[in-house]
Amino acid sequence: MINHLITQKNWQTQLSEAITSVDELLAHLDLSAHRADVYVPQHFKLRVPHGFVAKMRVGDINDPLLKQVLPDTQEQIAVTGYVSDPLSENTQNPIKGLLHKYQSRVLMPITGACAIHCRYCFRQHFDYNANMPTVQVGDEIVDYIRAHADVNEVILSGGDPLSISNRRLFAWLDVLEGLPQIDTIRLHTRLPVVIPERLDEALLARLQASRCQIVMVIHCNHANELDAHTASYLQRAHAAGITLLNQAVLLAGINDSLEAQVNLSKKLFSKNVLPYYLHILDKVAGAAHFDIEESAAIKLYWEVLAALPGYLVPKLVKELPNKPFKVPVDIYTDPIS
Ligand SMILES: *Cc1c(COP(=O)(O)O)cnc(C)c1O
Ligand code: SF4
Repeated sequence: MINHLITQKNWQTQLSEAITSVDELLAHLDLSAHRADVYVPQHFKLRVPHGFVAKMRVGDINDPLLKQVLPDTQEQIAVTGYVSDPLSENTQNPIKGLLHKYQSRVLMPITGACAIHCRYCFRQHFDYNANMPTVQVGDEIVDYIRAHADVNEVILSGGDPLSISNRRLFAWLDVLEGLPQIDTIRLHTRLPVVIPERLDEALLARLQASRCQIVMVIHCNHANELDAHTASYLQRAHAAGITLLNQAVLLAGINDSLEAQVNLSKKLFSKNVLPYYLHILDKVAGAAHFDIEESAAIKLYWEVLAALPGYLVPKLVKELPNKPFKVPVDIYTDPIS
């Protein structure tokens, strides 16, 4: 019944009614007894919409979806090597609101807002106010892209690019489609699994009508995020001609097992989504407890390679500040020997 009510609400309402209190979240899951006096950083509070909570197991403090959003005292422990800007992004934007790190594609963080706050997020300390493109800098972005003729793809990112209104999003699409050199527009978004209703009819119709190829890279870390309700919206996106890919982050205690990875890839594929990237955690301050040893990641990856057809195996990558691509993890040394 509760699920039914949630699906009646439009995405904006669900966004505005997201849970922001640890006590409330734990109460929803019958976990009030576990109530820890966690310190929640002011710059990155708890935030999770009800629909995502509905996919968590009641009574399980180790639920893989809960662990992604529940603040943990371990976030407060400073760990050497884990810094606030692990990718040096604050220094890699040629103009405000544009990251041009790799050839042929640029990334625009069009909003700092997210529907959900993922505790492992590498952008949790990012200075969005200093880096957000506004309509005023739209002209500068257009000039920059025009001056770089090899750029043929624009990635809308954030924050979450689907957390802004259709009106604002469509305005950016209009601008980008007006550039003949751009043939692909990509959205990196977690909203399809957090509030699937965000893939509303107007959005899908607008994307379907685009003269550009539309790629949507969803961000799903665990098979439990993909329930039937979520799948129905992914199906609509697929039917609208959108190429659906997934990126996940390898997270200790959440998806760092063979079973979790196999289930995720298979479930994604059954919903018309292909696994794209499996990221080694970016070494961001506050997230060290989610990280796993690279040797352990490689060992797991060999198991995944053995268990799945090649098209269901995401690329295992890490991001390094000054490399011209996301760096494939060196898996060639047999971790078993
Ligand atoms: C991840 C990323 C991209 C996209 O990289 P792909 O390998 O094409 O998926 C582009 N620009 C920036 C700044 C990125 O972080
Ligand atoms: S949705 Fe993406 S950008 Fe937003 S907090 Fe989660 S991982 Fe970070």
